[in-house]
Parts: sequence; structure tokens; C-alpha cells
Amino acid sequence: MNRIVVLPGDGIGPEVTREAQRVLELVSERHNLKLSFEKALIGGASIDKHGTPLHGDVVELCRRSRAVLLGAVGGPKWDDMPVLTRPERGLLAIRKELGLFANLRPASVFPALVAASSLRPEIVAGIDMLVVRELTGGIYFGEPRGRAQRAGAEAGSQAVREARNTMVYDEGEIVRITRVAFDSARRRRNHVTHVHKANVLEVSQLWVEVVNEVARDYADVELVHQLVDSCAMLLVKDPKRFDVIVTGNMFGDILSDEAAMITGSLGMLPSASLAESGVGLYEPVHGSAPDIAGRDEANPLAAILSVAMLLEHSLDNPGAAQEVRDAVAKVLGDGHRTGDLVLEGEEREVIGCRAMGDLVVQSLDTRS
Ligand code: NAD
Repeated sequence: MNRIVVLPGDGIGPEVTREAQRVLELVSERHNLKLSFEKALIGGASIDKHGTPLHGDVVELCRRSRAVLLGAVGGPKWDDMPVLTRPERGLLAIRKELGLFANLRPASVFPALVAASSLRPEIVAGIDMLVVRELTGGIYFGEPRGRAQRAGAEAGSQAVREARNTMVYDEGEIVRITRVAFDSARRRRNHVTHVHKANVLEVSQLWVEVVNEVARDYADVELVHQLVDSCAMLLVKDPKRFDVIVTGNMFGDILSDEAAMITGSLGMLPSASLAESGVGLYEPVHGSAPDIAGRDEANPLAAILSVAMLLEHSLDNPGAAQEVRDAVAKVLGDGHRTGDLVLEGEEREVIGCRAMGDLVVQSLDTRS
């Protein structure tokens, strides 16, 4: 049995993960994947029950699982808590405890949603890229770091405030993320763009060297090195040129949001985070949306598309993953929309979270 741990979390998390789990159950039966599901608490829900955003037992459960499907955490109820005990700490802790070093964020546009992008349809139609971001190293974690005050230059002058962060990567960290990118490219269009700033950063020079070394094992995959500033421009000018983008933590943080927003709605964006241990964590990019929680208004498609990533990366079943994506494309193509996907001024019936889940399940059912 492959154990899947479901951590619904807070706000719309339970609503969207319920629909995602239904989809996964259906597909896994069809493909005889032998899954077992266990639900556990994270975030505010865990604070309310256990006084901590992530209980040690839940970490153990996740470690012994094949994959974790997460909703979202946080909400106004816990906003006044100290930073170190807030719901979001649960998310940071589970990522750290599972050693999730690779963050995968696809950005593709379903034909039916081309008009939702802020870019012209001819630039957007056909975008299909994957940003592979290193998640546990780089400037967000490097030492030394901190704020300080130093004496002013002239006697009697005011102290000067200063702050520092340090960008550090070792070659092992670069090798493992680069391999994830090249392996992903082999399942896609065999093209990797490495994004860097090697004209000013020694860290980026090391990345270029190590990425080139890894690339020797992937003669079938084309590699391009691209400066981060020009990559940011090309993403809005000619996004279709990209297949897999691999980069460090900070560049990846920024570029994955840029790439995602080209495609339209937050309610459509899935993500995967992978560890060397083999456990993967899958979650929508959006948060707990407290403004619509409990009203059956959330779009469950980001969570459902996260299930597609789970099927591909943790259960090694790209065929089943494609069935899920095709079912989502069919439902959108038939004109069904949750509120977040309806454009301003557009006259269209809006459906709820449950109804959207039902339609994806029905679409999968009618395939058999
Ligand atoms: P958010 O993503 O929750 O919501 C932003 C806006 O997008 C809201 O108007 C919301 O209604 C809408 N939205 C988001 N997901 C949607 C969906 N699936 N369907 C329809 N509409 C959707 O971001 P926020 O409002 O900045 O944060 C709310 C809470 O979520 C905060 O407590 C924040 O800390 C937390 N958060 C959690 C995560 C996570 O768990 N990974 C990520 C971001 C924010």
C-alpha cells in the first residue's frame, strides 16, 4: 500500500483537498495504484487541537508516507500569535523536516483560460513551462546574517544601521536540484534553461560550472544559461520558449511567481516539493483564502492539478497524471467556471467548489 497523508489545514484547505482526494481515489482505483489515505492536522487547526502548528506524530506519519497532499494554512483567527507559533510555521517545519529541497511550479495555460492572462492571447496560448527552484539553500538561509549598527565615520556622528545576508551554495546542493530539472525535462520537451547572475556573483559562476558537469549525463537534453534579468524580460516577451527553468532559491522565488501570473488565476496553480528520501509534498500555490472559506466558492483545480503532479512524481504514473489534466481541460473547455475564473464583465454561470470537483470526477468517469 502507498500511504498518502492528507493535511487539509485551514480556510479553504479542507474544501479543496476534499475534491482533490476524490479525484485521486478515482484515478488510483482505475490504475490499481493501491493507495491508503490518512488525514492529519496542520496549521491553525493543529494549534486549536494540540497547541502547536505541527505535531511530531504528524511529521512521523508524513515521513512514513509516499506523498503528502496539503491544502493551505493560516487565517485571521491566528494572526495575532507570535511569529514562531503561527500556522505558517507548520508549513515551514514540514518542509524542513521532510528535507524538501526541490520546488516544482508548472506554468501552463489551458486553452479555455487564455483570455484570463494580462498578456496578449497570441503570446500566452501554448505556454507550458516548469520552474524548478532550489528551496533549502542560498541567501534565505546563509550565514552570517543579521542587522547591526556601526559607528559613524566622523567623531560624534550618528551610528549607521546596516544589515547583511549571505548567499552560499555547495556543489552537492547544485547537483541534486540540477538532476531534478534534467530528469523533469526528459519527461517534457528536453530543454533546460539555467538562470543565474554569473556576471556578478561567484555563487552563480559555481552554478554554471556544476550545471555544465551534470549536463554531460544528459546528452539528449539541450541546456541554455540565461541571466536572471534577461530571463525576467523574456518571460513576458516570449514565454513559449521555456520548457524547464532551474535556478536557486531567491531567483526561483521571484521567477516562479512571474511565470505563474502570466497564466492567469491563483486558483489554477499547483506545486510539488521533492526530497531525497522520496517523499513528495503537493499543494496549491494559493493560501487559505479566509475571505471565501466555508462558502463553497473556492476553486479546487489548483489542488486537483497538484494531484496530477503527485501521480507523476511520487507514483511514477504520467499517464494517470495526464488523465487528470485532460479532465480539467475538458471541464474548462465546456465553459464551467468558479468565481475566480470569471472575467470582469463576462456573463457566465458561476459554480462552487463541490460542483467543480463533481464535474472533474464525472469527466474522468466518462473516459472509462
Ligand atoms: P490567498 O492565496 O489565501 O488569497 C488571495 C486571494 O485569492 C483572495 O481573494 C482569495 O479569495 C483568492 N483565492 C485564493 N485561492 C483561491 C481559490 N482556490 N479559489 C478562489 N479564490 C482563491 O492569500 P492571502 O489572502 O494573502 O492569505 C490568506 C491566508 O493564507 C494568510 O493567513 C496567509 O498567511 C495564508 N497563506 C498560506 C499559504 C499556504 O498555506 N501555502 C500561502 C499563502 C498564504
